[in-house]
Amino acid sequence: MNDTVVEYLYILAVIFFVISLKWMSEVKTSRYGNWIAASGMGVAIGATLLAYQIQRVDLLVGAVVVGAVIGMPIALRVPMTAVPQRTAVSHAFGSLAVALVGTAEYYQRLPNIDAFTLTVLSGEMILGYLTFMGSCVAFAKLQGLLPGRPFSFGPRNFLSLTTLGAALALAVYLIANPTHSFILPVMAFFAVLFGFLLVMGIGGADMPTVIAILNSYAGMSAAALGFVLDNQILIVAGALDGSSGFILAMIMSKAMNRSFTNVLFGGVGAPVAAHSAEPSAAGRTVQAFTVEDVATALENAKSVIFVPGYGMAVAQAQHVVKEVANRLQASGADVKYAIHPVAGRMPGHMNVLLAEAQVPYDELWEMDRINPLFPETDVAIVVGANDVTNPAARTRPDSPLYGMPILNVDKAKSVVFIKRSMAPGFAGVENELFYLPNTMMVFGDAKKVLTDLVAAMKK
Ligand code: NAP
Repeated sequence: MNDTVVEYLYILAVIFFVISLKWMSEVKTSRYGNWIAASGMGVAIGATLLAYQIQRVDLLVGAVVVGAVIGMPIALRVPMTAVPQRTAVSHAFGSLAVALVGTAEYYQRLPNIDAFTLTVLSGEMILGYLTFMGSCVAFAKLQGLLPGRPFSFGPRNFLSLTTLGAALALAVYLIANPTHSFILPVMAFFAVLFGFLLVMGIGGADMPTVIAILNSYAGMSAAALGFVLDNQILIVAGALDGSSGFILAMIMSKAMNRSFTNVLFGGVGAPVAAHSAEPSAAGRTVQAFTVEDVATALENAKSVIFVPGYGMAVAQAQHVVKEVANRLQASGADVKYAIHPVAGRMPGHMNVLLAEAQVPYDELWEMDRINPLFPETDVAIVVGANDVTNPAARTRPDSPLYGMPILNVDKAKSVVFIKRSMAPGFAGVENELFYLPNTMMVFGDAKKVLTDLVAAMKK
């Protein structure tokens, strides 16, 4: 009877997880997606408690309380710009838990452990330990505890592949000699070292893509553990996690114009940092404007598109962007927001910020839908975006951005560019758009500039 109830509850949890993925893929339903995922996890935990005879309830409750006391304040207080590193921490703990459960399973089952179980366990532990260390390094880079630049030296790739090879060779040895338990910590050490070398070689700003890959590794590791423990929910949830992380990494790499192998083998970040073939600014002039100039330009604008980017997140300018939009709409202008899939530093970054500022969902336009509208747009206001607007992606084959789909801001009748300096964006390349005759550069912190703009518009 109990088993049947547990099976049904597991199926219910899986249905919740699948619905949550569907809902989370749309801005309108994403909040519900989050809730249903949490409910699915609640059902899965409840069913698992029913399935096993729990002898030490005190330990279990203690662990839940400690986890909640540490986790809830972090989740409530973490600023939106720090979500990537918070996610890295979750993956680090999740994968460490999976790896430790796998390790405990091995020692508990000794000496009666069959080759299949040990093969799955070894793969699971290698993935778990490498994801743990990789996620710790990703966290440290994003938090500024380690230098963000890719750590590279001559034989780095050779060394990291050798450490992975050593971990795999030790796994094969362990499968052949299951009772040689001293091999396990050495294997775990090489997996940890591989995770360290892999992620150290990647630039800090590319960590969100790496985190999506590590998410995928953690999911695969959990699914493998599910096979060992004969736990269906762990298999399905791990597979969903592994595949969605993988798909997300693919979407991100495609939107950033990176090859799939480049992502898989951890080359992300290095080529961009090394690039220096862009034209220099020498001999070209940039037109700096004041907020009063912008207010005048906006006076007769019938259509305005806001193009938010990473700088809007840094400045926390989303609320004042909405205020400017409200004023424009009140004077009869049509206002839209152009959303590039990799604007900011994490997937959906701009959607989340603009939703926080109560921007209606139907004013957020994805890149493919909004691009044909730029030629008829009176003013495009770029708020702290850079790479996602850079025409070099279309025109300069030697640029690292070449081939990346961009927002065609340069086609608008006039462009207002709000940023603090002439500094390039994440890809480290100059933006041709700054020098175009229809571009008005307004230098300053996005929040400050837009607040002043509201004041100028009131006048
Ligand atoms: P970006 O190219 O990194 O440019 C952001 C711009 O914001 C900078 O040029 C900076 O110029 C400006 N800025 C910074 N702080 C500011 C402030 N307080 N006020 C005003 N401006 C400020 O950003 P993006 O156009 O959003 O492009 C995202 C980049 O990140 C892409 O290259 C993408 O491939 C990469 N990426 C994205 C993701 C993702 O999932 N979204 C993940 C990994 C990498 P100043 O310093 O002059 O102000």
